[in-house]
Amino acid sequence: MTDHAADANQHEHVIIIGAGAAGLTAGIYTARANLSPVIIAGLQPGGQMTITTDVENYPGFAQVIQGPWLMTEMQAQAENVGARVIYDLVTSLDTSERPFTVTFDSGKVMTADTIILATGAQARWLGLESEAAFNGRGVSACATCDGFFYKERDVAVIGGGNTAVEEALYLANICRSVTLVHRRDTLRAEQIMQDRLLKKENITVEWNRSVAEVIGDESGVTGLRLASTIGEAEKDIPVHGMFVAIGHDPATKAFSGAVALDDEGYIIAEAGGTRTSVDGVFAAGDCVDKIYRQAVTAAGMGCMAALDAERWLGEQE
Ligand code: NDP
Repeated sequence: MTDHAADANQHEHVIIIGAGAAGLTAGIYTARANLSPVIIAGLQPGGQMTITTDVENYPGFAQVIQGPWLMTEMQAQAENVGARVIYDLVTSLDTSERPFTVTFDSGKVMTADTIILATGAQARWLGLESEAAFNGRGVSACATCDGFFYKERDVAVIGGGNTAVEEALYLANICRSVTLVHRRDTLRAEQIMQDRLLKKENITVEWNRSVAEVIGDESGVTGLRLASTIGEAEKDIPVHGMFVAIGHDPATKAFSGAVALDDEGYIIAEAGGTRTSVDGVFAAGDCVDKIYRQAVTAAGMGCMAALDAERWLGEQE
């Protein structure tokens, strides 16, 4: 990996902010379009995939691969075709005039004709010590990624929003039983999703409960200790997996005021495309997508953003 120090007021055709699946794929495509992109890798180069272990749903690999390995390869691929990677944190983006201005934590400033935002999102965790201790050994924040490892086993999903209900329904087709643990007595999820959930025979709901502790041993998670939010006694449930689905935080604070964000902080992009509210600024991956959240969809959107940026640059000439 090469760290190209950001020169003061360096000007670029394309700056890609974020070095996860979306940003690196945008880097591969813009580099191959001869745009000599700069990719800004912030605090977690490689994104969420670097905190994943086994990956068996990224197409092209017949055997299970490791998330961090995939991202190292993706970055090397981007660099091999000419993308430059800078390790610095973007603290603000000024889109009020062109070229756009990117300011870094180090104090450096760069300008660019076009920007691709691909800073991703982070899953929210409950914040328990036992949850962190079993992360990757029974604790996950992505049913689509890890559900298959719990085939015919008993699992729990924590949360009451659309994600939690969707994950519970997904897991119910794979696992023996699913317990949805929700801290209130009504779900936040859309009614149609709730109806589907309550009809599913192998899903039960633990209402008014929160996780007090993840219980386990060297084999991984063996159960959950559930506290009551309405003053009832604690209870233990036996499960092998806990899927935390209490929301995500998109990494978009630095872009507030620069592009339109929704109430939850996600970047608003045109339907089916990557154009943001600012002409010449594009967005891809989990910082804009709260529905699919997969490495392959992020990579796909990164490709779309690169093609959109390339076309847009062509139109400006
Ligand atoms: P939400 O913010 O909608 O829901 C989070 C859930 O987690 C809530 O039920 C909340 O409880 C619970 N929760 C939050 N913090 C804690 C905690 N510390 N302990 C226990 N429970 C907690 O997040 P989602 O990820 O579900 O959805 C995010 C957005 O994405 C929403 O706009 C949603 O509609 C959208 N989405 C749409 C989908 C679709 O259309 N197919 C699929 C997935 C998401 P409480 O209810 O008590 O606040």
